[in-house]
Amino acid sequence: MLCFDCPRNCGVDRENAFGFCNCSNKIYVAKIIENFMWEEPCISGKKGALAIFFAGCNLRCEFCQNYKISHYQTGKAYSPQEFRALLESFHLSTFSSIDLITPTHYSSALLEALQGFSSPIPIVWNSSGYEKPEMIDKLSTVVDVFLPDLKYFDCDLSLKHSKAKDYFQVASKAIEAMRRNKPKEVFQGGVLQEGVLIRHLVLPGCKDDSLKLLDYIKEQIQNPFVSLMSQFTPVPNSDITRALYPLEYKIVLSYSDKLGIDRGYFQDFDSSSKSFIPDF
Ligand code: SF4
Ligand code: SF4
Repeated sequence: MLCFDCPRNCGVDRENAFGFCNCSNKIYVAKIIENFMWEEPCISGKKGALAIFFAGCNLRCEFCQNYKISHYQTGKAYSPQEFRALLESFHLSTFSSIDLITPTHYSSALLEALQGFSSPIPIVWNSSGYEKPEMIDKLSTVVDVFLPDLKYFDCDLSLKHSKAKDYFQVASKAIEAMRRNKPKEVFQGGVLQEGVLIRHLVLPGCKDDSLKLLDYIKEQIQNPFVSLMSQFTPVPNSDITRALYPLEYKIVLSYSDKLGIDRGYFQDFDSSSKSFIPDF
């Protein structure tokens, strides 16, 4: 079958060729971390997440901090049935959530794997946001929480760093679809059971782009739930060669505050999370 799983629309047969994501049609799991603590307490809960890091990515950002696994096919291959069996092999109630990290390029296979799978804990779709709304509609039947990035507003920036000139156009439509399918955040014991949490990592030298994204979020998303991140770390050979300045992050946080975006999280420069309003 030819692959049109994501907006790259490569149309390749992944049994015999690679598309932009550099992955075959098996599900490649690069790493699993049990009881993983994320930046956002509502995802980690007290027990931590079952964090499943997939290999490859449909954005392949040049600055990716996980570039060792996101730019290549690596790890162990699973068919949809095998992946389901993998999930079933864990004692799931010892975690707060199942986090599928960078899953977009395995959308069809994961849809098949998760169909009818009854999980005692929420399944989190932790993605780049570069996704098709029609695929999000399908995934909504098997996924409980969407945790999308909203990376760039400016198309030159997304072209330069992720070879995706249409990133904002695509990701904003994908997030609309996520919100349409999961319109309200539902919490239990402080853990998000259903809903959409938008992540934005402020990039060094790009604070004005972050401000434009905040304007968009304020104007277009009702009662948004947002995680503003500061943890960018430069990797070898990246075009972005420094970390974020405290002042850049402060400006973004102040602007968010001014706009009244007050549901979500921000980070300290030591990367610990704080809640804006712990209303759950
Ligand atoms: S979307 Fe995320 S995982 Fe994929 S390359 Fe970009 S930063 Fe890395
Ligand atoms: S999932 Fe991979 S092969 Fe399929 S359209 Fe996207 S980038 Fe191309």
